[in-house]
Amino acid sequence: MMTQLNRQFLLAQRPVGLPSRDTFSYVESPLGEPGPGEILVKNLYLSLDPAMRGWMNDAKSYIPPVRLGEVMRALGVGQVIASQHPDFAVGEHVNGGLGIQDYFLGEPKGFYKVDPSRAPLPLYLSALGMTGMTAYFALLDVGAPQAGETVVISGAAGAVGSIAGQIAKLKGCRVIGIAGGAKKCALLIDELGFDGVIDYKNEDLNVALKRECPKGVDVFFDNVGGDILDAVLSRLAPKARVIICGAISQYNNKEAVKGPANYLSLLVNRARMEGFVVLDYAPQFAEAAKEMGGWLASGQLKSKEDIVAGLQTFPETLLKLFSGENFGKLVLKVD
Ligand code: NDP
Repeated sequence: MMTQLNRQFLLAQRPVGLPSRDTFSYVESPLGEPGPGEILVKNLYLSLDPAMRGWMNDAKSYIPPVRLGEVMRALGVGQVIASQHPDFAVGEHVNGGLGIQDYFLGEPKGFYKVDPSRAPLPLYLSALGMTGMTAYFALLDVGAPQAGETVVISGAAGAVGSIAGQIAKLKGCRVIGIAGGAKKCALLIDELGFDGVIDYKNEDLNVALKRECPKGVDVFFDNVGGDILDAVLSRLAPKARVIICGAISQYNNKEAVKGPANYLSLLVNRARMEGFVVLDYAPQFAEAAKEMGGWLASGQLKSKEDIVAGLQTFPETLLKLFSGENFGKLVLKVD
């Protein structure tokens, strides 16, 4: 009998700047069988996230870095094909830290079941997964938007931003998205119902912010950091809330992260800037997913997935996040 092989991408070196194919080593390892308390999962869809860049650094963060030689960490959905765990049966679908590989073998720590008859599997990585939970809790808990307020979202055509903007619309806010390029900006208005857009690649940010936010910015959902954060800080309304969800413009820096020069706007406007980590809200995920599921079913929320096929394309596909080639949630389909 032929031994089944598991194609895997391991972290080979810690990148300086943008990762490349050399950041990873590709191996084909013989597939083992689950021991007591373990499951074997056939990976189907893997989530590609900007956070993966941070996990490659040997730096203190909200979770430990990926170790050199370890399978590159990634969330994903897959199907259980062998199990020695009482809570997971063969045939069931799971969401968890599957890693960039064909099969996951190990203890299903933090794994939970998903039902492909209720929603297509990639949706469990976008609106109904960590992405949707990030948009939901960062906006509603940290941003606390009120109807009629102006909400500005950077990275608005990305996975988190596109959902956060739609939730803000559902809450009766005026929503302005910042994204790169005319095509993405048009999609935000035409498909997702944003009220206004700023194409940060082709227009002056300060001029555009004044045009789109004449009364100032009440809530800023920041996914990007750097110059965009600075520009929005200079347009805050009194008592504004700035949600620090991410800073993708800084993740591949070779120099120190660029801090906001305009932070005294927080003082002048009695405003608040607060960091957010989605993992803190895990006990409330099921409840939020239920509400998101309702919005999806009624058509009030659209989930966009950008699905690329081929495990082998992983190093190049990951880079789409940093070149801005994705619209919505970037997902790798394991073929
Ligand atoms: P996205 O789908 O938004 O992907 C990345 C997008 O960011 C690109 O499409 C691009 O859009 C934009 N971008 C990339 N580089 C730059 C740059 N230099 N300047 C401006 N925009 C850039 O990713 P996610 O939605 O998954 O994540 C969004 C943010 O949320 C990230 O910062 C991520 O780290 C963070 N996050 C935080 C979590 C938390 O718990 N705090 C949890 C999950 C995500 P464009 O074409 O418009 O430039």
